[in-house]
Amino acid sequence: MIVIGGGLAGLSAGVALAEAGWRVRLFEQRPFLGGRATSYVLPDGEHVDNCQHVTLRCCTNLEDFYRRVGSADKIKFFDRLLFQDPQGRTGEMQAGFLPAPFHLLGSFATFAPLTLADKYSIGRAMMDILRSKGKPKDLEEAGGISMLEWLRRRKQTRGAVERFWRVVLVSALDEELERTDARYGVDVFWKGFLSNHTGYRMGVPGVPLAQLYDGCKGEIERRGGEVNLRAPLRAIHLAGSAVNKVEFDGGRQESAEAFVFALPHVALDGLLSEEIKRLEPGLANLGEIRVAPITGVHLWFDREVMREPFVTLLETTTQWIFNKSALYGTAKGASGDKGQYLQLVISASYDLLQKPRQEIIDLCLAEVRQALPGAREAVLTKATVIKEAAATFSPQPGVDRWRPKQETSIRGMFLAGDWTATGWPATMEGAVRSGYLAAEAVLRVAGTPKTLLQPDLPPDGLVRMFG
Ligand SMILES: Cc1cc2nc3c(=O)[nH]c(=O)nc-3n(C[C@H](O)[C@H](O)[C@H](O)COP(=O)(O)OP(=O)(O)OC[C@H]3O[C@@H](n4cnc5c(N)ncnc54)[C@H](O)[C@@H]3O)c2cc1C
Repeated sequence: MIVIGGGLAGLSAGVALAEAGWRVRLFEQRPFLGGRATSYVLPDGEHVDNCQHVTLRCCTNLEDFYRRVGSADKIKFFDRLLFQDPQGRTGEMQAGFLPAPFHLLGSFATFAPLTLADKYSIGRAMMDILRSKGKPKDLEEAGGISMLEWLRRRKQTRGAVERFWRVVLVSALDEELERTDARYGVDVFWKGFLSNHTGYRMGVPGVPLAQLYDGCKGEIERRGGEVNLRAPLRAIHLAGSAVNKVEFDGGRQESAEAFVFALPHVALDGLLSEEIKRLEPGLANLGEIRVAPITGVHLWFDREVMREPFVTLLETTTQWIFNKSALYGTAKGASGDKGQYLQLVISASYDLLQKPRQEIIDLCLAEVRQALPGAREAVLTKATVIKEAAATFSPQPGVDRWRPKQETSIRGMFLAGDWTATGWPATMEGAVRSGYLAAEAVLRVAGTPKTLLQPDLPPDGLVRMFG
């Protein structure tokens, strides 16, 4: 069988199918694996992630995939999330001794950037999520409602929206609240923060992202398959109502019993003929799925400027600062000198797309110096900005109706990708879910069904008393 696309969706489908006994041939256009969740080596030898990627404990399929390819121990999990506002007030989220859903109550009560009124309004909205077990009735309205509208209906204070909901959700979903389907927003809090006391724990790779996929090629090759890099797909050929061949650069054609297309939706859309769209109408509307940007800013200082592994900034352009030197465990800094390497993340960064790189560096540097006193005297020795204009699909209200299933009505044609119908937003977890669902579909059609999708974390503590 053939898998096209070496991101998390293609890799998870490929590895699962290889384990199920298929000879998998994977084709990826770039010279490395990992797709959007990968890293590169700069000309000076520095490893740079495309952007910092984080996971949460509730991402059970991603965790399963890392385990299959021998990378689970490369992820460091943290149970304390730190927040800081421009006035220097800090707050944290850390589970205390209370059972779920009250495990974060202690740290929430002392969260200095929020007022009592903010906390009261957040508490009311959380109770609504809890009582409905993550499915408040208004989420089912035709066409979906935006997260901002959902919050307005629950009379959230301005502070609660700006310093809590927006902070968590823009990072998690890469979109502004007014353009986010409330279903995704509510799900983040239900699965991540309420239903299970460990769901919120944040996992950050302790190695450059590309190293997480070191085991994938081996897993596929050990079972007789192959991984072809620098192999861009150029055309999909049909014989009647079945895919029978795909064509790569240089006219190289390959055939197989089944094909998993694990490309970003924009790339796949460009390869679909009118005939394919007629046979599978679910593929005719990929143009309706919009994209959203993320900007990563990488700063290298001549000395240590930060002790924490990461911090979230409130009400600034910079949303997260990651202490890459600490995360990599290189006390002396990633570049081997006495300096420190920080990576900043700005999700839904529409305002930065047109800005010159130097302007972005200056803006972020000023915010870092404001937030971290240690950075004020430090010398910035190097900086780079990576703008990803199409980082994720935008989780707009009602977007689910445009997301096709992994099994199509065209024989031999299966789909994977974070944008396919998984119920999840564009995340590594969503990509792996899509890969497992595509592999399940291939196995089902072949008459050898198997369950690959992992269950969500079960509700624990006192959560079952609600509803
Ligand atoms: C800047 C940024 C930050 C992010 N942060 C997070 C985060 O913190 N946490 C999180 O969970 N998610 C995050 N995401 C989202 C996450 O990276 C994606 O959801 C996930 O990696 C998508 O995987 P995929 O396999 O569906 O797609 P991709 O990773 O895009 O894989 C598709 C692959 O297909 C290949 N391809 C394209 N065209 C062709 C062709 N014609 N022929 C052959 N191959 C082709 C591409 O090169 C690519 O390797 C972030 C994304 C970005 C861009």
